[in-house]
Amino acid sequence: MSSTAHFLTTTTQTTTHNCSLPFTPTTAPKHLLRTERAVVLIDKSKTINQLLQIHAALVRNGLEHHPILNFKLLRSYSSLGHLDYSRTLFHRTHDPSVFFWTAIIHGHTFHGLHQQALLLYSQMLTHGVEPNAFTFSSILKACSIEPGRALHSQALKFRLDSDVYVRTALLCVYAKGGDVVSARRLFDTMPEKTLVSLTAMITCYTKHGDVDGARLLFDGLKVGDVVCWNVMIDGYTQHGRPNESIDLFRQLMSAKVRPDEVTILSVLSACGQLGALGLGRWLHSYIKNNGIPFSVSVGSALVDMYSKCGSLEDARLVFDRIISKDVVAWNTMIVGYSMHGLSQVALELFSRMCALAIHPTDITFIGILRACSHGGLVVEGRAFFHSMKDKYGIEPRIEHYGCMVDLLGRAGFLDEAYELVQNMEIEPDSIIWGTLLGACRLHGNNTLGENIAEFVFANGLANAGTYILLANIYAAAGNWNGVAKIRRMMKDSGLQKEPGCSSIEVHNKVHEFFAGDMKHPKSKEIYLMLKEMNGCLKAHGYTPQTDIVFQDIGESEKEKILGVHSEKLAIAFGLITTRPGTPIKIIKNLRVCTDCHTVTKLISKITGRKIIVRDRNRFHHFVDGSCSCGDYW
Ligand code: ZN
Ligand code: ZN
Repeated sequence: MSSTAHFLTTTTQTTTHNCSLPFTPTTAPKHLLRTERAVVLIDKSKTINQLLQIHAALVRNGLEHHPILNFKLLRSYSSLGHLDYSRTLFHRTHDPSVFFWTAIIHGHTFHGLHQQALLLYSQMLTHGVEPNAFTFSSILKACSIEPGRALHSQALKFRLDSDVYVRTALLCVYAKGGDVVSARRLFDTMPEKTLVSLTAMITCYTKHGDVDGARLLFDGLKVGDVVCWNVMIDGYTQHGRPNESIDLFRQLMSAKVRPDEVTILSVLSACGQLGALGLGRWLHSYIKNNGIPFSVSVGSALVDMYSKCGSLEDARLVFDRIISKDVVAWNTMIVGYSMHGLSQVALELFSRMCALAIHPTDITFIGILRACSHGGLVVEGRAFFHSMKDKYGIEPRIEHYGCMVDLLGRAGFLDEAYELVQNMEIEPDSIIWGTLLGACRLHGNNTLGENIAEFVFANGLANAGTYILLANIYAAAGNWNGVAKIRRMMKDSGLQKEPGCSSIEVHNKVHEFFAGDMKHPKSKEIYLMLKEMNGCLKAHGYTPQTDIVFQDIGESEKEKILGVHSEKLAIAFGLITTRPGTPIKIIKNLRVCTDCHTVTKLISKITGRKIIVRDRNRFHHFVDGSCSCGDYW
């Protein structure tokens, strides 16, 4: 038995009022230990055993009441995770000074015990001990906004509000609590802006959706620290503004600021949103060449980026390299396969994950249920949906219901889908109703479709998509009066269809196209290519599906509108700017319409190119005239 182990076994007999220190003072042999040496040793202690041995030696040498040593011990016990020993020391201290109170308060906030920290603070005031700036900056870390405001008044009373640490801590309380005005007032009156205050201020803006406000502040201060750049870059990524996120990343690189893991994670996510595979690959090499550790988070972010950019093979290669895969890594790969319609592989991966005793999360089930939906696997989908709650104790969220309605509706189980929506434990939203309406259109169930639409309109749940779906249902039934009525209603409601937008990356640059767009510098060539393509398609038996255009215009006008859908422009651009045989990858913000789907299949056959389209819902891989979705999307 080692001396330390022996030392610990003697501890259990000593008791104090809330925790015992693990040694018996009276039995310890005596030898000298100087105070200065003890301070250094305490500060250097890396393990609890080292600290206990020093503490025992202090007791043996009659130094157990030395205030500085006790203060040092109290802090070190807490930072090594033994708040119970800190508490014992604190309670044994006679008439503790403000330093002791602050240290024990800090220990509690450090361990997330915020209520107890606040309680200790009020006990300190009751004992007539006046707080100092460190007490305030410690206790403020435990505060939500209301106690924070009260402490702000106390800081003013004790004349501590101008202290930079107190001010920064107060700013963080306001920023976290969403009081942008108070946070900004403090920030503006700070003679010296600390990095923490600046980061808190920028975070405060981007959390509350004011990314532009954050950017103004960021640009005005010209910061060199990567932490601030990260907050700003991530703000753009989280708010669906990947172009700006990537732009700012390029500025960071030219400003010679070294990106860290956090930067890389944000930019990889932006690349995934945008489908910017070129930059994504560059980041992958950067990670390899610049000593950024291949952590499970970095690995998962790469898997996500590659699968969202359409390169599932690369995603799998990275996934296989992650050594200790956590549930996030598994989820990312499962969702990736599901997005690409490889339902069986997604389900196999789920089984492997469960066999390794990794507990699935709600995200796992979104991946699994979508995989079932894309693969038309109704029996499996139902079973997974039930097992979620029964076997894994995960309460379905609105997204899970959405997946189930989609799965049942698309497979033609309209009544079951409708029943599920009516009996949902959460209030169904416009997306759920839209999904159901889409299923009614797909299966030509106009009666149910009209009933649902009526309910949706009456309850103010309609969006532009609902109007369009109902117009689709009427048009399919030849009810042109109905179509005209919907068009009027849509006009009166002021709702506008979200404009279709497709992007394509060529030579590491992402090009964006809106429907009918003429802004691209190569527009002339693009439209010439479209014209040539159209002739070719017609020669292969293509007839434009003008019935999906609801404007009150002639057939040829409808054909023109269909012919310039954004994905067609992006494909034409891909055809003129890349070498024959190069695969074309398109990212589309909405679902692909049936006409574009037909056209893309034919183009893949005529040109011999692989065309990969990511729409709002999933990936379509078009090869030699057919699509991986099996025309089921
Ligand atoms: Zn289209
Ligand atoms: Zn498809």
